[in-house]
Amino acid sequence: MYLHPEFEKLTRSEIEALQTERLKKTVRQCMNTEFYRRRFAESHIAPDDIRSLSDLGRIPFTTKQDLRDSYPFGMSAVPLSRVVRLHSSSGTTGTPTVILHTQRDLDEWANAVARCLYMVGLRPGDIFQNSSGYGMFTGGLGFQYGAERLGMLTVPAAAGNTKRQIKFITDFGTTALHAIPSYAGRLYEVMEEMGIDPRRDTHLRTLIIGAEPHSEEQRRRIEQMLGVKAYNSFGMSEMCGPGVAFECTEQNGLHIWEDYYIVEIVDPVTLEPVPEGEVGELVLTTINREAMPLLRYRTRDLTRILPGECPCGRHHLRLDRMKGRSDDMIILKGVNIFPIQIETVLMQFAELGNDYLITLTNEEANDLMTVEVELKAFSDDYHRLQALTKEITRQLKDEILITPVVRLVSKGSLPKQEGKAVRVRDLRKTLI
Ligand code: ADP
Ligand code: ZN
Repeated sequence: MYLHPEFEKLTRSEIEALQTERLKKTVRQCMNTEFYRRRFAESHIAPDDIRSLSDLGRIPFTTKQDLRDSYPFGMSAVPLSRVVRLHSSSGTTGTPTVILHTQRDLDEWANAVARCLYMVGLRPGDIFQNSSGYGMFTGGLGFQYGAERLGMLTVPAAAGNTKRQIKFITDFGTTALHAIPSYAGRLYEVMEEMGIDPRRDTHLRTLIIGAEPHSEEQRRRIEQMLGVKAYNSFGMSEMCGPGVAFECTEQNGLHIWEDYYIVEIVDPVTLEPVPEGEVGELVLTTINREAMPLLRYRTRDLTRILPGECPCGRHHLRLDRMKGRSDDMIILKGVNIFPIQIETVLMQFAELGNDYLITLTNEEANDLMTVEVELKAFSDDYHRLQALTKEITRQLKDEILITPVVRLVSKGSLPKQEGKAVRVRDLRKTLI
């Protein structure tokens, strides 16, 4: 049941003792960086002031902008000669950010991913195929080294060319696949076109899905389509990549490895801790990293800590499924909406496919939301389609409190991305 019992079985008080030790060490290491030396000086705190977990709140937050300002090597806590790898974010929203790793960092990252994969029942003998892009994107090498560390035969299929991906699954007898949720749906559609029944023609049993927000309904769909158990995997480049938090076989919340990270949930506006169990921004402090430790990093991801004990016996905190990023939030007519709320409604209709696109426009200061969603199969039953559109609109209105225009479109007609799905297009013009 445990790959690293010495860490996975820790009790709450043991976790806290380990975190206190590791936090103090991390703060000392941070003093090797110009960035944190300045930060501490500006806030009039000394490393020795951080003696317990409750002192963490005295340290200022670190933001993505701080990483950008330090691009590329400004946050290195070790001489560059000890850094053996860097990963970089896409940089689509400005200067890219860089994350640096020593060999020990890479080893510990592989251990974390291996621990996650072991937790969901994967073992040597399993054949693990990874459909992530390799290269700078951490889902590629992150899962590669983790799966190898566990001792599985690992197939670095990488992204793209879905027919080839499926051929690998059938030819190699792949039992476990890592895919982003939007791609899992695409994979099934192409299997259908090729006349392949995943239950009959493949050995797939386990799917690891993550890297983008998805609803519980979408997970159930993926499980049904492919005849697998699908586990939610959460990570981000700034925290290495995959392996930060992962569902156990209970499929109820993602255990975050607290021997690697200290978790805080704060109100994204006031930056004060939220009351226990409430949704807020996830803030993480790395406590098991050498090259680039980060203190109180604001992830912008919104989630909450699930209350209670997990029946699996692990005491590492469980995060709820991500609600989205604070910057994904749609503000329409003064109402705050997350794309995942819309997905949750859509996925309940058996007639609908997996792909949808939300478009925001404004005419004469009137904000409008259009939801286009693919039908699962062709239909020219006008009356049925009209009734379906009406029912979807009604349920969306109930969920998001505004009435969108719903358009049913034919299968395959919405644009497909190679990487993470783009669910929202904001075409609103600034009105003066
Ligand atoms: P980028 O910031 O360019 O998207 P990353 O690959 O580091 O690059 O993406 C990390 C982000 O992806 C997280 O901060 C989170 O918003 C999202 N993410 C990752 N895993 C999940 C998941 N399981 N559920 C929801 N969102 C996720
Ligand atoms: Zn559990």
